[in-house]
Amino acid sequence: MFNFLVHEKIPLFAEVDVLVVGAGSAGCCAALAAAEGTRHRVLLMERYAFAGGTSTQMLDTFYGFFTPGDQPRKVVGGIPDRVVDRLDAADAIFLRPNTYGAGTGVNYNPERLKLVWDEMLAEAGVRVLLHTTLIDVEMFGGAIHGAVIWTKRGVFRIAAKCFIDASGDADLCHLAGLPYEKAGEIDPAQTLTTTFRMSNVDLAAYEKAGGKKMLMERMGEAVDKGTHPLPRKAGSLHKMNAQGCVSTVAVRVTDVDATNFEQLTAAEIEGRRQAFIYERFFRECVPGFADSNIIGFSHQIGVRETRRVYGEYRLTRNDCLGVARFDDSVLLCGAPIEDHRSAPDGKSEETIWGYIPNGNAYDVPYRTLVPRGRDEIWAIGRCFSATHEAHASCRSMAQTMAMGQAAGLAAALSLDENTGARGVPISKLQGRLRDLGAVLEMPEQVAETAADSWSKNR
Ligand SMILES: Cc1cc2nc3c(=O)[nH]c(=O)nc-3n(C[C@H](O)[C@H](O)[C@H](O)COP(=O)(O)OP(=O)(O)OC[C@H]3O[C@@H](n4cnc5c(N)ncnc54)[C@H](O)[C@@H]3O)c2cc1C
Repeated sequence: MFNFLVHEKIPLFAEVDVLVVGAGSAGCCAALAAAEGTRHRVLLMERYAFAGGTSTQMLDTFYGFFTPGDQPRKVVGGIPDRVVDRLDAADAIFLRPNTYGAGTGVNYNPERLKLVWDEMLAEAGVRVLLHTTLIDVEMFGGAIHGAVIWTKRGVFRIAAKCFIDASGDADLCHLAGLPYEKAGEIDPAQTLTTTFRMSNVDLAAYEKAGGKKMLMERMGEAVDKGTHPLPRKAGSLHKMNAQGCVSTVAVRVTDVDATNFEQLTAAEIEGRRQAFIYERFFRECVPGFADSNIIGFSHQIGVRETRRVYGEYRLTRNDCLGVARFDDSVLLCGAPIEDHRSAPDGKSEETIWGYIPNGNAYDVPYRTLVPRGRDEIWAIGRCFSATHEAHASCRSMAQTMAMGQAAGLAAALSLDENTGARGVPISKLQGRLRDLGAVLEMPEQVAETAADSWSKNR
């Protein structure tokens, strides 16, 4: 907690029951779950101009709904399903086959998703504040009681009964002095990626020339022969929900502490520089791309991990690969460990994959969402309590949405029953999750992910 502000002099802007910081996939679902069907006053604050976080800032595919492999199971449900249903109703999704190892993805139009988040949050009665940045916390008696926000109108306070830190970077926990591990402290931090989109691509010509296999060969040649100084040989691209457009996960910026604004500034600049090297490579070397151009960058460079809070429990690699079961499970994850590492020589590819055995899914315990020893706060999504490797598995957006709905319901329940975060009655929470449609047990039925309709795959 910073003390440079004299809090008493800061005007009170609002008093609420649940304050959710960060409107990413986790924060939106948390706010929805805390508000829907309850009388709790839920406020969701976000520093940027739209909801969705990474889901709308830079990406277009939800992974983690389905386990990978040839016997896929659908392991997430509830509010995340309703998000996809809305997109489906607007004809804004298609199911992307398992080409890059993470299982079938649900591809969506990210601009439509911004609207879907707006609509769902409004219908649930969530009070949303965009262009609002958390800059400090108010603490009395060792507990967080309020947040200090920065807006163009000035600095204000928001008082709340409980808090959900869905900022991705655990900003609220950091300001409150709660313990966390920072990416890079123990294991090498995952690399950063500016995603970019290209238009006017002849996808038929690209596929005819060999598609992904051909692309990998051409990237390898470009790097080995030094014709185009690409940062990696294995970047990926996929068709978007718009004619003749592709989205990429190709740029790779290494060794960045993304909580350090000077390093992040340099990373943004480096990401854009690399993207235009890719553009030249695609136009010159890849069939179907001769007349294509970059038409958009991610809103900011993509940050895979920064602060991971120490919770009541810490998910580990052994939990993932050993398919752990927990009595307080609140979601399932079958996504592989996908660790985008900075290679030791700084040049070669080093994405490390670790698959959950037999296409299974492990339990994620409620305690990973509760910062250690705390009763007034949950930390979810990108900053939940996990080791580097477990986080590299449990960070897909189906899982971050599922964490959000679990924490939102838990916050509502803690207010209803007058318990702290640690005292939430688990069987009641699990009952409410099941009522919502959440998946807590590994389904026996194989999901049919080949068809082109989400609805057919439910
Ligand atoms: C390059 C890249 C590619 C990926 N590819 C995929 C993929 O294809 N499919 C998939 O499922 N997952 C993918 N992931 C992982 C996944 O996108 C993230 O783990 C997930 O979106 C995190 O969601 P979140 O809600 O926890 O955090 P975020 O989406 O980061 O949301 C946090 C929100 O908090 C806001 N915020 C932060 N600080 C403050 C503050 N102080 N005040 C106010 N607001 C604040 C942010 O603006 C943001 O909106 C990828 C991640 C990256 C970086």
